[in-house]
Amino acid sequence: MTTNTNDTPDLESVASSLSFTTDGFIERAAENAEQRAEREKKLSDAVRTLLECIGEDVTRPDLIKTPERYARAMLYFTRGYEMSMDEVLNGAIFAASGHSSDMVIVRDIEIFSLCEHHLVPFFGRVHVGYIPNGHVLGLSKLARIAELCARRLQVQERLTGQIAEVVQNALSPLGVGVVIEASHMCMVMRGVQKPRSSTITSCMLGTMREPQLRNEFMAMVRGSGGRD
Ligand SMILES: [Zn+2]
Repeated sequence: MTTNTNDTPDLESVASSLSFTTDGFIERAAENAEQRAEREKKLSDAVRTLLECIGEDVTRPDLIKTPERYARAMLYFTRGYEMSMDEVLNGAIFAASGHSSDMVIVRDIEIFSLCEHHLVPFFGRVHVGYIPNGHVLGLSKLARIAELCARRLQVQERLTGQIAEVVQNALSPLGVGVVIEASHMCMVMRGVQKPRSSTITSCMLGTMREPQLRNEFMAMVRGSGGRD
């Protein structure tokens, strides 16, 4: 169905080695408008240097505004640094009622991230499932968690583990499963990866590691649309 073109490390060990908590992400310190403008200017200057270094004419009319445009785009691509996990989770955790231990799955959450080795995009879809233990999360929040984790420099394996850890820390569920299918432009554009193949990573925590639950989760995820 898909190929994993990476030498992926043991994903569960990646997750278990993460020591951050829900508020342990790198968050950019608060800044005023002046500081923000200064940072954007510094970034634009760096892009001008980059353009010179690849042999471009930075005074060419079509390129004149590119450094500023790129700076703004880059800040958007990495806006996860400006988001607070506490704010994302605030007011979003509810007491579970009824069939409180039924698996909750949200699949096909789109993510756009930047590979921290090449600063080029990798993008794809995240599927998150958990088995409640008294608490559930507002469904839209799983997408916000994925956004906060993805909109920064990442590697897919760590991103997968981080999303699982955030859900684990926020809800203390019985189990959590996260699967990410993504295409890495750093591999596609260099011919290391075929354009239509993707890298799949997964992280299972708690009871989701048990074969029966893991299989149930993976079967639900495999039923997701969009795959060839
Ligand atoms: Zn890369």
